Amino acid sequence: MSGPVRDISEGLRGPGDETAAGTVTAGAMVRAEAVVREYPSGDAVVRALRGIDLTIGRGELLAIRGRSGSGKTTLLSILGGLDRPTSGRVLVDDLEVSALTEDELVDVRRRTVAFVYQAFGLVPFLSASENVEVPLRLVGTDPASRDARVAELLEMVGLEARARHRPYELSGGEQQRVAIARALANRPRLLLADEPTGQLDSDTGHRIMMLIRAIVRADGVTAVVATHDPAMLDVADRVVELRDGLLV
Ligand code: ADP
Ligand code: MG
Repeated sequence: MSGPVRDISEGLRGPGDETAAGTVTAGAMVRAEAVVREYPSGDAVVRALRGIDLTIGRGELLAIRGRSGSGKTTLLSILGGLDRPTSGRVLVDDLEVSALTEDELVDVRRRTVAFVYQAFGLVPFLSASENVEVPLRLVGTDPASRDARVAELLEMVGLEARARHRPYELSGGEQQRVAIARALANRPRLLLADEPTGQLDSDTGHRIMMLIRAIVRADGVTAVVATHDPAMLDVADRVVELRDGLLV
């Protein structure tokens, strides 16, 4: 897949986009302060996050490692405004997401952040291009602009020839590339990927990580990737480890 990875910087760098490849610009993209998340569990409480302080720079590719149950999914959900901390604060792009209303959070999830999941999460009865189009419809993009953006995104991930295929007609790696294209549709500032290579063989997984890195490099997107696969870590700018809800 060297083709798509090599071509991606062309696809992503639009006219007027001044972001230099690989530049981490000033100011944090994400700031988590003393984030605690507790889940009630019968009479007890599960402390999934026990006080997370984390700053992520703009244009950084951060990997969060940690074994199953260490709190990776909980942390990504809170950074992306899908879940709220029990205490503590989260700022994304200078916006305090942990203090927003539900309506405001919906807007953040549509425009500022985007998620990629282990199980791809494509809509099974929609084609690759229709899946990529969904977020554009959600923000009311007009049809002509939608078509152009979908074509651009599928080309970026090297799947223009698969545009009309349904997910079941695609390999796992191809499905994840469609999911990444969909995640990027509305030009998010923050890409959150939860074990995106967990269902892929190691070669395909590595290509997906390289694709994510190419996107970060080309477009100044900030990416946070949770993984417990050590082979994926060399692609990141920085690796932090979660253990029992704490960064170590
Ligand atoms: P990871 O993604 O690293 O596997 P999670 O964030 O999913 O870890 O889970 C962290 C801890 O929080 C685990 O002990 C898990 O069982 C618990 N947990 C996660 N989600 C819930 C929930 N909705 N209700 C109760 N406990 C939960
Ligand atoms: Mg998880």
